[in-house]
Amino acid sequence: MSVRVPAKVNLQLAVGPLRDDGYHDLVNVFHAVSLFDEVRAVPAARLEVSVEPAPYSRVSVEGVPTGADNLAARAATLVAARLGTPPAVALRIRKAIPVAGGMAGGSADAAAALVACARLWDDRESPVLSRDDLLELAADLGSDVPFALLGGTAIGVGRGERLTPALARGTFHWVFATAGGGLSTPAVYAECDRIRAADGRAAPRPRVSEDLMAALATGDAKGLGEALDNDLQPAALALRPSLRRTLAAGRDLGALGSLVSGSGPTCAFLAANDEHAAELAADLDGAGVAASVVRASGPVPGATLV
Ligand code: ATP
Repeated sequence: MSVRVPAKVNLQLAVGPLRDDGYHDLVNVFHAVSLFDEVRAVPAARLEVSVEPAPYSRVSVEGVPTGADNLAARAATLVAARLGTPPAVALRIRKAIPVAGGMAGGSADAAAALVACARLWDDRESPVLSRDDLLELAADLGSDVPFALLGGTAIGVGRGERLTPALARGTFHWVFATAGGGLSTPAVYAECDRIRAADGRAAPRPRVSEDLMAALATGDAKGLGEALDNDLQPAALALRPSLRRTLAAGRDLGALGSLVSGSGPTCAFLAANDEHAAELAADLDGAGVAASVVRASGPVPGATLV
């Protein structure tokens, strides 16, 4: 059982005030791009996880847990518990999504494991677990996991886990600049809170950008580039100042828009079309401002059996 699952970039990430439960209220416009991890689920005596870079990918998998705390293992354990079966599966993960890169790679693997294990253990004729059940398990695993099941382009509210598909026309072409070493998502949120407290500004209630929605609905890459916005970007730049150079290089090289992806440190650049993306990728690579440069397009579907 093999499942392919995409990375995400946040087209808009509006971060509201800190809630009593420690989360922030978000408006999170997710967009799934054609950079895929693959999770293979093979029956085994007990739960095992292995992680390796996907062929031709330059992802470093150092530090990704291979025990019960791997998010894919947690997903398999949840599915097994719901179906009353032992979690007897070997999960073989091939990563092309940068680790701790702000592209939700761990969440993607969790979503892929949900789909693969449900397929492995559930009744094919009359499944116990519906699509909605999987979405509920996904939300228990993490705020970004439901979107990795759904894919496409979607607006997430709450912690980002309550999703509504967004109307989007056409294909958008992206270039991603990865950085050596990741950034911890909780550390970036904490830095965002710290900066806001130091400024003495209350966080505004997060709202969906109408300009962004209009650009998506009409397939307007220029409009989308101008509307990209990430409230976590100042915090990511404070923790990793070298990203300023990366973003500036992309802008100087003619990207229609640029931003830090999620909590970073991966930077995303929007191109006008496939040809422009190829040029931009080559130029960014030449500028020496990234550990690696990859192209991808979106939107693409969520976790899919292959
Ligand atoms: P997000 O964009 O959702 O904030 P991210 O892309 O920045 O996440 P991930 O690649 O999901 O970050 O990894 C965050 C941490 O999760 C890693 O440092 C790693 O220790 C842990 N982790 C657990 N399971 C996995 C997995 N299957 N793949 C990658 N990291 C995992």
